[in-house]
Amino acid sequence: MAAEIIDGKAIAGKITEELIKKVAVLARSYNVQPGLAVVLVGEDPASKVYVNMKVKKCAELGIYSDKRVLPADAGMDELLQLIDELNNDPKINGILVQSPPPPQIDEEAVIAAIKPEKDVDCFHAVNVGRMLIGDDRGFVPCTPYGVMKLLEYSGVDPAGKHAVVIGRSNIVGKPMMALLIQKAKGANATVTCVHSGTVNQSELTRQADILIAAIGRPEFVQADMVKPGAVVIDVGINRVEAPETKNGYRLVGDVDFKAVSKVASKITPVPGGVGPMTIAMLMHNTVKACMQQHHINN
Ligand code: NAP
Repeated sequence: MAAEIIDGKAIAGKITEELIKKVAVLARSYNVQPGLAVVLVGEDPASKVYVNMKVKKCAELGIYSDKRVLPADAGMDELLQLIDELNNDPKINGILVQSPPPPQIDEEAVIAAIKPEKDVDCFHAVNVGRMLIGDDRGFVPCTPYGVMKLLEYSGVDPAGKHAVVIGRSNIVGKPMMALLIQKAKGANATVTCVHSGTVNQSELTRQADILIAAIGRPEFVQADMVKPGAVVIDVGINRVEAPETKNGYRLVGDVDFKAVSKVASKITPVPGGVGPMTIAMLMHNTVKACMQQHHINN
């Protein structure tokens, strides 16, 4: 039987609707508007698309956005000066520097310069640490947070399940493991991580009740790597050549969707799975940052 599709677009839509209501209450009852600064260094076409999507989403929710574009040859001094300005701007509750920056930019130093209370991407060590110890004063990184919400909204409780995460990046794989393993409602899974140094990859992935792929390799996960009935979440976004299309490419995930959906019980598509959730959770974190900075509860 074909797997049920986990519709990230629809779930992100529900989260967005709730946030629109919350933003309206903030305006009406507290006279505050959440604000997000999106910083882009250079002209990378994919980064430009992502930045514009975030600005557009802010407008949809009633969130103030401040898009700052620095030239591709901007130095660290210029960028750090901008971060300092945004750190001290009361209209700005969240700051995001679009990744990847050009090579002259020390991304770690930039992240460290953002005030933790405005680090809505959750890349700053303070927020990573808070997430790891389950301290909800910090933020949760948008993509893994989006995956947790996909599981919640599709009725998949990770408690007691074996979750296997493929990939160990700081922005997806590692925080994904940290969230799933928390002794908390909606988590409490047993977690295994598979990475490029794992020798028996398929043996481990076939044990997964929940399999999460975040590696950046087109259609890497094949049907024989998946346990029948597993829930499969595909974080990957890869461009593959498709001369028959208008753009000359199409987007595929890290999972062979067609083959794996014959084995899995539930599966996310690409596009339309994790992608829309990432941006919805960014908006969630921006609203949370605003409420914290204005000492507004719930
Ligand atoms: P990344 O920083 O390149 O990390 C990839 C991870 O995959 C690394 O830990 C790497 O292992 C592991 N890996 C690579 N090849 C492997 C293999 N053959 N077997 C096992 N593990 C392997 O990528 P990322 O930032 O985590 O992103 C992963 C994918 O998710 C990309 O396609 C990206 O575009 C997508 N993404 C999507 C969203 C979204 O909103 N949907 C957000 C972020 C990322 P090593 O550590 O051993 O090198």
